[in-house]
Amino acid sequence: MIQTTAVVVGAGHAGLAMSRRLTERSIDHVVLERGEVANSWRTQRWPSLRLLTPNWQTRLPGHDYAGDDPDGFMPAADVAATLTRYARLAAAPVCATTTVHTVRAAPQGFEIHANDDLLSARTVVLATGACNLPSIPGVANAVPPSIMTLTPLAYRDPGQLADGGVLVVGASATGVQLASEIHRSGRPVTLAAGEHVRLPRTYRGRDIFWWLEATGLLAERYDQIDDLTRARHLPSPQLTGTPEAVTTDLNTLTAQGIRIVGRLGRVVDGVAQFSGSLANTCALADLKMNRFLNRADEWATASGLDDDLPPPHRFAPTHVNPRSPLELDLASGEITTVLWATGFRPDHSCLDIPVRDRTGRIRHDGGIVTGAPGLYVLGLPVLRTRASTYIHGAGADSDALANHLHTFLSSQPR
Ligand SMILES: Cc1cc2nc3c(=O)[nH]c(=O)nc-3n(C[C@H](O)[C@H](O)[C@H](O)COP(=O)(O)OP(=O)(O)OC[C@H]3O[C@@H](n4cnc5c(N)ncnc54)[C@H](O)[C@@H]3O)c2cc1C
Repeated sequence: MIQTTAVVVGAGHAGLAMSRRLTERSIDHVVLERGEVANSWRTQRWPSLRLLTPNWQTRLPGHDYAGDDPDGFMPAADVAATLTRYARLAAAPVCATTTVHTVRAAPQGFEIHANDDLLSARTVVLATGACNLPSIPGVANAVPPSIMTLTPLAYRDPGQLADGGVLVVGASATGVQLASEIHRSGRPVTLAAGEHVRLPRTYRGRDIFWWLEATGLLAERYDQIDDLTRARHLPSPQLTGTPEAVTTDLNTLTAQGIRIVGRLGRVVDGVAQFSGSLANTCALADLKMNRFLNRADEWATASGLDDDLPPPHRFAPTHVNPRSPLELDLASGEITTVLWATGFRPDHSCLDIPVRDRTGRIRHDGGIVTGAPGLYVLGLPVLRTRASTYIHGAGADSDALANHLHTFLSSQPR
C-alpha cells in the first residue's frame, strides 16, 4: 500500500491549483490523472472552441497570463498547453494515465484504488471536473432512431454531421457557438432556446468579464447568495470568444439565418414540440442583462470612471419571430441531426462514500464535504464564489480549501 498525506484526483486546472497550494504548505501529495495533464481540454472539447473568458483572466496561483494578446480568447489547445507548462514549472507530482476507480473511507483516512494500486491518504481532494458528462433531457429517448444525435463531448466539427438540417437544443455558451459554426458549414440550423443568460461581449469599450469582475459580481460568496442551488445551476452566458470579440446572442444568430424556436418540451410520434413562451423567456433574459448593465453603470459612476469610459447605452431587445414554429416533424427528413447542448454534469462515480444528497450530488459546504472529514471537492460552479465557475476562481478556492485541509491535518493524531 502506497502512503501519502493527500491525494488529488484530476490534473485539470483545479487539481493543479490545489497541488500548488499543498506544495506551498509542504504537504506531501500526488495528483492522480486518468489521462494526461489537461485531459478534458485535450479529449472532451471541440477543436474550434475558444475560452469565453479573456486571456488576462486565465490566471492560476503563481501564474498570470504573460502572452501578447491579453484581450484575446485562448483556443482549447492553448489551454491544454498552458496547463501543461504550469504543471511542469510547478513540478506538480502528477501520475498520468492513472485512473482512480474508488475512494473509500478507511481508519486512517481514505483508501484509493487507482489502476492496480492501493493508496492510503489522510485527505482526498476530488478535482475531477464539473463538465465531464453530458446532461441530456429525458425527451431524447423519443427522438426517432433515424436521426443522428450527439453531445458536445463527442462533437468535433460540422463535417462529422449528416448532410441536412440540424436541431441544436440549448442556447447557452455551447449551443450558440455550435449553432453558429454548424450554420456556417451550410447546414440549416434550428436552435431551441430555453432559459438563457444574455450578455454582450463588450460594454462601454470593456469586455463583459472586466465588468463582471470590477463590479464585484464574480466575488460574491456562496454563503451570501440567496438561492445557491439556482446560482449553481444557472446556464452559462451566451458568449463566444472570437478574435473579433463579437457578441453572439439570439439577434446575431437570427441575422445569420438561424431559426430560433422555444424550449424543446416533448417529442410525440416523431414530432418535436417547442414551448410557446419564447418571447417571455427572451424578455426575461433581456431584463436581467439590463439589470446587470444598470449595476455596471452605477458602479462606474460611483468609481468616478464615467469620464474615462464611453457613455452608457442599451442593446436592442431580442427579436422573436411571432411565426416561430411550435412543432417540427423530425420524421420529415428536414432535420437529420439533433445536438444536445443542454449542459454538463460532474462524474464523481469513483466516490464510494455516502456523502450524496437525494439528487446524487455531493453535499458540501464551499468544497468541504459534509460527513467525511478530510474529503474536499474543487472545480464546481459557484463552489465558494461566482468566480469558482471559471478557471481563475480556482486560485482563491484552492487556497481556502488548502488552509482547511492543513488545519484538519494539524488537529488529527498521525
Ligand atoms: C465547453 C466548455 C467551455 C468552457 N469555457 C470556459 C471558459 O471560457 N473559461 C473558463 O474559465 N472556464 C470554462 N469552462 C469551465 C471550466 O474551466 C472547465 O470545466 C474546466 O475544465 C474545469 O476544470 P477542472 O480542473 O475542474 O476539471 P477538468 O479540466 O475536467 O479536469 C478534471 C480532470 O480529472 C480527470 N479525472 C476525472 N475522473 C478521474 C478519475 N476517476 N481518475 C483520474 N482522473 C480523473 C480528468 O481526466 C481531467 O483531466 C468551460 C467548460 C466547458 C465544458
